[in-house]
Amino acid sequence: MLKFYMPTKILVGENCLYENKNELIMGKKAFIVTGKSSGAKSGALSDVIKILEEQNISYYVYDRVENNPEINQMWQGAEIARKEESDFIIAIGGGSPLDASKAIAVYSQNSQMELYDIFKGEYENKPLPMVAIPTTIGTGSEVTPYSILTLHKEQTKRSFSSPDTFYKSAFLDGKYVLNLPLQVAKNTVVDAMCHLIEGYTNKKASYLTDYIALEGLKIIGENLEGLKNGSLGINEYTRLLWASSLGGIVISQTGTTVVHSMGYCLTYFKDIPHGMANGYLLIEYLKRVDENKVSQCLNSLGIKSLEELDIALKELLPRGEKITEDEINAWSEISIKAKNVASCPFSITQEMEIEMYKNSLL
Ligand code: NAP
Ligand code: ZN
Repeated sequence: MLKFYMPTKILVGENCLYENKNELIMGKKAFIVTGKSSGAKSGALSDVIKILEEQNISYYVYDRVENNPEINQMWQGAEIARKEESDFIIAIGGGSPLDASKAIAVYSQNSQMELYDIFKGEYENKPLPMVAIPTTIGTGSEVTPYSILTLHKEQTKRSFSSPDTFYKSAFLDGKYVLNLPLQVAKNTVVDAMCHLIEGYTNKKASYLTDYIALEGLKIIGENLEGLKNGSLGINEYTRLLWASSLGGIVISQTGTTVVHSMGYCLTYFKDIPHGMANGYLLIEYLKRVDENKVSQCLNSLGIKSLEELDIALKELLPRGEKITEDEINAWSEISIKAKNVASCPFSITQEMEIEMYKNSLL
């Protein structure tokens, strides 16, 4: 049976925000969710404010989202959204602000719920409507129902989702990516590559997700050289935003695999950025996956072999973290419990995760 659900309207191209102003405004008062610098540095925040002021829509700028948003801060953000009587959210930034918005949208409408009830995925009141302007090129959060929150109690990250946590619209304009630091661009493109590959090789893959995944990998392959030497312009970034959204569309249907669940530990314990963490683990994953599927992914990327992909990933993602066997043993205990394990195409044990971590990191 094929099941495919993706309710977000995607608007792509230079000035898509100005040309579709009506899609940005979902109510009377906007709660703009962004990071300390992503909103301002991308130029998207000032464009949004200009449009809202032209249309006489009031707004509140909540620019306190930190990288890898933490669950308690989301509750605090929601309290402000309630106090401000905001009735819709505009999210600007990378996966962190885009994921944070989804949690704020749920909590602000459901003050009666317990903090961890968010992971049940069913809420008494519908979350606030949201629109997204991504400024990084990897998470695809603008088209997924997922939000990944940091949990200090469990010392890891965990995702929630609901059919009501999709964005209503997503605006993909490469000009908002121009000021993204090159290393963050590299990390996030690798994240998109992982979404596309983990989706394509996933137990839950379908012919539709396969088709989308290979198209996304082709776009990434076309831009790898430009990414390596930092020569990408607006058009290329818009294409990469599109590839990132394709990755999001794919994982919305399939979910991710152990690359992601194992990567969460690298982010939580070593502060390694999300895409970089996944990229470190990708080759060990691909070594255990059906060869035909791996060849299809490599073909679409325009890469001849796993060895060549390994070299490309090493060029894109610097290493430096010192990691010990004790750490790996502890992480495997946490990551083997994650729900992404269920959609991994091969059966995975804690011992196998230890081996994958060791081969990838030591
Ligand atoms: P990020 O944490 O959102 O951003 C990384 C850094 O880039 C931040 O310092 C950010 O600044 C800065 N930045 C972003 N856009 C910029 C721009 N245009 N110009 C200058 N600086 C900019 O990174 P991310 O990799 O996009 O997101 C990672 C998060 O997404 C993780 O929490 C991960 O778990 C989650 N994720 C979610 C999904 C999903 O399906 N929902 C999928 C994959 C990953 P600020 O600090 O000012 O924002
Ligand atoms: Zn990811």
